[in-house]
Amino acid sequence: MTIKYDANGLVPAIIQDATTKKVLMLGYMNEESYKKTLETKQVTFFSRSKQRLWTKGEESGNVLNLVDIKNDCDNDSLLIQVNPEGPTCHTGTDTCWKEENTPSYGFFSTLEDVIAERVANKDTKKSYVASLFSKGINKVAQKVGEEAVETVIEAMDNNDELFLYESADLMFHYLMLLQAKGFTLKDIENELKGRHK
Ligand code: AMP
Ligand code: ZN
Ligand code: ZN
Ligand code: ZN
Repeated sequence: MTIKYDANGLVPAIIQDATTKKVLMLGYMNEESYKKTLETKQVTFFSRSKQRLWTKGEESGNVLNLVDIKNDCDNDSLLIQVNPEGPTCHTGTDTCWKEENTPSYGFFSTLEDVIAERVANKDTKKSYVASLFSKGINKVAQKVGEEAVETVIEAMDNNDELFLYESADLMFHYLMLLQAKGFTLKDIENELKGRHK
């Protein structure tokens, strides 16, 4: 679909990291900058302050390598997915909203935070997590082993409901073990990425 540029010939472009899905910045494009972006595969805006084409990173080297461009539902804004080289904001932060450009694993990241909080608070009477941690890392590891065995049994029993239940148990205890060993899901992602060709 053709893009609907506004009265000034501009369309807003939301810049998103293709991997982490974090929003990095907002810029404006005119038709020429849009075409240049497609040609060069590096994001070029129309700078309203400079009143000229502006390739992000032209001075700093912190370019935005194009991955994908999507029009919104009524073609008056763009979502541009990129692989950024270096921090995107000229103030030196990863994003223009002072966020770190780290991946988020959605609810699993929330669980990581909850586990860390329970461990820090050490309320062994109220918290299962705190209580298991207080028994030492070997107990946490042992629980992962048990939940893994239960998951395997339900997989072989062909019982989908119990398989899901035990898989959730396994995942939860595995997150606890990662925490106990001082690792996070991000470390696992890095390890897997290192093997990925
Ligand atoms: P750069 O395009 O990264 O070489 O930066 C050149 C100039 O563009 C900077 O000095 C800023 O004035 C401006 N600039 C760079 N990045 C941003 C951004 N994310 N948002 C707004 N202005 C920016
Ligand atoms: Zn729209
Ligand atoms: Zn900025
Ligand atoms: Zn279980």
